[in-house]
Amino acid sequence: MLLYRVMHTPSQRVCYALKQDGLYLEVTTAFEAISTTLAAGEQLALGTRLGSDHEVRLLAPTTPSKVICVGLNYRRHAEEMGKTVPEEPLIFLKPSTAVIGPEEPILLPPQASETHHEGELGIVIGKRAAGLSEQEALSVVLGYTCANDVTARDIQRREQRYTRSKGFDSFCPLGPAIALAPSFVPGEHRLICRVNATVRQSSTLNDFIFSIPQVIAFISQVMTLLPGDVILTGTPAGVGAIVEGDMVEVEIDGIGVLRNLVRSK
Ligand code: MG
Repeated sequence: MLLYRVMHTPSQRVCYALKQDGLYLEVTTAFEAISTTLAAGEQLALGTRLGSDHEVRLLAPTTPSKVICVGLNYRRHAEEMGKTVPEEPLIFLKPSTAVIGPEEPILLPPQASETHHEGELGIVIGKRAAGLSEQEALSVVLGYTCANDVTARDIQRREQRYTRSKGFDSFCPLGPAIALAPSFVPGEHRLICRVNATVRQSSTLNDFIFSIPQVIAFISQVMTLLPGDVILTGTPAGVGAIVEGDMVEVEIDGIGVLRNLVRSK
């Protein structure tokens, strides 16, 4: 089941919605209650019929308080970056202001001469959580979305630190939907990242160095996770440059295609 965050264009109202038979239906269950409702085997409460694709605009599927990223979580990507595989998860933050939704442009900053795509699986947190064990970790997952950890690679190489190279406005496309847990199991799916229809990255989602429960538990033992927070799980091999005019697509079967045009700022 896919959960969308949409703007109903005639009324300019923003809400969550499910899509049934081509029509978006407002979800009135509170965001923080959705994962508990689904875990109990209950249905989400539905409200107004919003209409078809013509009457809604898809937004970033969450407005996170923070985006926590895992670096070097695929062996072949660590190799292509000339880095050794870390012994425990390497984490960094992207600011919430970097988040954009489907069809919004990635803006190349004038400070960067080489900006890269990094197609990733995003974990969307459904409820407040701290100090989780690996056994408890999946119970706080609302679902999964497509993400692009856009990176100013030349700045990253120069500075070692990631705050500037990964923190520019528009450097965190998310969407187009949240595939709701527990029915969506990432290990059964594939991530593909295309630039202008050419496949740059293609990987199954079952060969992380640190598993999804390990990553969630590790982060929750550092900082409290809030509903709507997103964890980016690392990128597979095949990262590369994007330039003005490129169309970047991150696709995960079962979630959809996250499409963003690249523009100069
Ligand atoms: Mg990344």
